[in-house]
Amino acid sequence: MKTSRHSFRKRGYIGNSCRSTQKTPKILIIYTGGTIGMIENPDTGALEPFNFEHLLENVPKLRLLDLEMESVEFENPIDSSSMNPQHWQEIAGVIEENYDKYDGFVVLHGTDTMAYTASALSFMLENLNKPVIITGSQLPIGDVRTDGEENLITALQIAGATCPNGNPKIREVAILFEDFLLRGNRSTKHSSDNFAAFSSNNYPPLAEIGMGIHFNFDQLRLSEPKGEFKVNYGMDTNVMYVDLFPGIQEGVVRHLFNTPGIKGIVMKTFGAGNGPNDPWFIKTIQEAVERGIVVVNISQCSNGSVNPGLYSAGLGISKAGVVSGHDMTSEAAITKLMHLFGCSDSRDEVISAMKESICGEMTIE
Ligand code: ASP
Repeated sequence: MKTSRHSFRKRGYIGNSCRSTQKTPKILIIYTGGTIGMIENPDTGALEPFNFEHLLENVPKLRLLDLEMESVEFENPIDSSSMNPQHWQEIAGVIEENYDKYDGFVVLHGTDTMAYTASALSFMLENLNKPVIITGSQLPIGDVRTDGEENLITALQIAGATCPNGNPKIREVAILFEDFLLRGNRSTKHSSDNFAAFSSNNYPPLAEIGMGIHFNFDQLRLSEPKGEFKVNYGMDTNVMYVDLFPGIQEGVVRHLFNTPGIKGIVMKTFGAGNGPNDPWFIKTIQEAVERGIVVVNISQCSNGSVNPGLYSAGLGISKAGVVSGHDMTSEAAITKLMHLFGCSDSRDEVISAMKESICGEMTIE
């Protein structure tokens, strides 16, 4: 992360009435790259990440916000397709280092892997009590029709939004995109084209953005954290997806479940958590579980939960020792496995934490 900071202080009324008697919120912007700050390479015509200065030049309105803002940026801003756990550790490290100095954080990020980063950070930032708002855009900030300006400004306003008692309104990792603020570990990128690119199919929006920012207070995490804020840096990448489809071959499934070094598998199943009833299929899973692999059942459906007891096609999977992922997104499930294996060598501990909702990532009936 580049240590040089851009600092821009600005005053101006943004229509938040509970603000008048309170101090101006201090927000740290963490720029990682993504389309929002990209420009076109004149030789290839392809979009490439560019620096934060360029982004600022294109949003002079930032100076009108009633916020104190500073920024840090990746040494080399990236397309989020290159995002990896080292980058997450870097982002989490900046938040930890600056936790007491700022009231909120806005992370500028590419959309492609934004839901993974949001999920990973939600697990890494334990006892978070301040807003971490992730945003980006579908069109670069320099484009006349950009969605980046509005997303950036709204994300900053949300990061600075406080209750009358001075507490931040948002105390979790969230994605702000177009019309909604979504819980980070419930979000998925569903469109590579629409400005409304993200959805949260199993959890209501934290806020709806219209002429005002309407917070959905019943859905926010408002309880006091159980302890001091801390960052869990460990992320173990010995995890993978196995995505089922009709006709998937025994040799392929055996090969995947026997991948050397693998500790956790998120198996994407049909409907309510179902898979083929072929004995070889159940046996392959059972053998993997007996070898100590944690297998988690996630539905390929974007809405609803796995319920493996509903059909006998799901019963076999659950009897083989597969852990229910309930209504988690696949992004949350895979990053949760990385996080848990990064924090513990005990398979039993990983399984029991996998069954719990750590920070609102799943609904347990
Ligand atoms: N490929 C870009 C990225 O994820 C897409 C975007 O930002 O919208 O960095």
